[in-house]
Amino acid sequence: MTSLMIEQFTCRQDNFGVILHDPLTGETASIDAPDGSRIAGRLGDDGWKLTHLFITHHHPDHVEGIPALVASYSPQVIGPEAEASRISGLTRTVSDGDTFEFAGRAVEVISTPGHTSGHVCFYIADEALLFAGDTLFALGCGRLFEGSPADMFGSLNRLGGLPDDTRVYCGHEYTQANGRFAISVDPDNEILAKRIAEIADLRSRRLPTLPTTIGFEKRTNPFMRTGDAAIRKQLGMESSSDLEVFTELRRRKDSF
Ligand SMILES: [Zn+2]
Repeated sequence: MTSLMIEQFTCRQDNFGVILHDPLTGETASIDAPDGSRIAGRLGDDGWKLTHLFITHHHPDHVEGIPALVASYSPQVIGPEAEASRISGLTRTVSDGDTFEFAGRAVEVISTPGHTSGHVCFYIADEALLFAGDTLFALGCGRLFEGSPADMFGSLNRLGGLPDDTRVYCGHEYTQANGRFAISVDPDNEILAKRIAEIADLRSRRLPTLPTTIGFEKRTNPFMRTGDAAIRKQLGMESSSDLEVFTELRRRKDSF
């Protein structure tokens, strides 16, 4: 089995478009639909026909392209059951633990509430691939628009349980801003400092900083490092619970 081809590109302000393509079957998926014409343009450049849309959550910058893509390609549109009433055009709804097939691979649905109440991530174990939407970002996590800190903390813990070599694609290019916050609470983390220098170089050349990996985020993303002694000392929270540390990190980031 050859690997899936993956195209990542920026659209709108700072959204990522991600297209998956299997050269053997021709099956092609877009992760979310931030911009229908931009996604259709990329598909057209490659001569690919969209067969699937995987929708992570209901925010307009993730679903607005659905109608145009449905009109052009009639793909299966797969998205969270818990947000079905807020996403028009879904042809199949999924919940935590569901699996469906894409190009002969099992795609596992992981419920990750926090950013929105029904947010889901899509995990393809055969390819060590995670599509994290607006739950996990490189060096950060999504804002809590609908869920509690405990919801998001639980969601990140679940993603942190995936294999370290899992490649992570996210909904936005937020890495540079996230890095500025991360180093403020984890100033002695040498791996993080090196990463921040790499990010500055990539961004100066207008290159994406993603994908990242689960293992790398566990060493550099403060929201996945709530047990780290140095971060706790920096926050003055040596004896707090992991959830309390997470909650304080999210609170600080919101006004950073
Ligand atoms: Zn969102």
